[in-house]
Amino acid sequence: MNPAAINPEARLRVPRILAVDDSELMHRLLRTRLQLEQVEIHCAITGEDGLRMADQLQPEVILLDIDLDGMDGFEVLQRLKENPRTRDIAVIFISASCETMDRVRCLDLGAVDFIPKPFEMAELKARVRSAIRVQQLLRMLAQRAQLDGLTALWNRAYFDQRLAAECSEARRHVKPLSLVLCDIDHFKGVNDRFGHPFGDEVLALFATILSGGRASDIPCRYGGEEFGVILPATAMPEAIEVAERFRRAFEEHQWRRHPDLVLTASFGVAELAALPPSGLPPSGLPADLLANADAALYAAKRGGRNRVSSSALPMAA
Ligand code: GH3
Ligand code: MG
Ligand code: MG
Repeated sequence: MNPAAINPEARLRVPRILAVDDSELMHRLLRTRLQLEQVEIHCAITGEDGLRMADQLQPEVILLDIDLDGMDGFEVLQRLKENPRTRDIAVIFISASCETMDRVRCLDLGAVDFIPKPFEMAELKARVRSAIRVQQLLRMLAQRAQLDGLTALWNRAYFDQRLAAECSEARRHVKPLSLVLCDIDHFKGVNDRFGHPFGDEVLALFATILSGGRASDIPCRYGGEEFGVILPATAMPEAIEVAERFRRAFEEHQWRRHPDLVLTASFGVAELAALPPSGLPPSGLPADLLANADAALYAAKRGGRNRVSSSALPMAA
């Protein structure tokens, strides 16, 4: 695994617990009794506050009371499940209700557990720990599904999704966004001459170079020996410099087992400009940005490889 490639967001942090309960006493009890656990505890009095805090804090676990003032716990759970940002948070109901049907309804709505009040603190802690463990495993699996196994860069599925998200973000905040597409030169020949395992080593090394930029850069393996680096808040001149640094680092790399070998790559840079150039219809779809970067990459290949080309016209945001 290439640790430099792993997104800092995805690293494990201290688990967060959000308690949604209309009793301040309950908040105090949870705060004091959970303070020695390795968790961060947050509390909300109403369902509305709970929903807002869940969206912002992205807790691992929500402890949810059924009897709340205004919106009740069932509705809170339903709303959590309707929001893609909160639907995977583990919800544990804590309620004084002894009704079997209430418990059944909670679990059917998607809660992971139900703890009747009054409860033993030791049991609550154990159930919270268990929900956190499951939650962390699920997050890890979800992240793995977005990583490329060989290089540990983000994979194509993630690239597509993130490029679309960054395009809308750039347009909303009128900020620049650039994309660098990279393709290793004559890579088929590397496999043919030195074998597939060495080819894999080359791909991993190239990925390390692409991961060496700013923390905000998003390096992805686009497929085979093609890579894409999304550069948020970066305009064309700077993106060209970034690509030039990647190009030079790869060309200058000393291959321990093949000291005379020089490998190169070609780069295509395109920008989603912040201001629409006059005379052009407003565009800015991720597909256009990708097509422009791809055309630039093709020009770099045609122009002799081992070079950085940029698309002539920036697109309107
Ligand atoms: P060009 O300079 O025009 O890009 O030529 P090229 O040889 O790099 O391009 P081509 O598309 O002909 O070949 C790409 C090669 O990449 C073919 C394929 O076997 C190899 N490849 C794709 N994925 C992997 C991989 O995961 N590991 C290895 N070792 N090789 C791979
Ligand atoms: Mg290729
Ligand atoms: Mg190639």
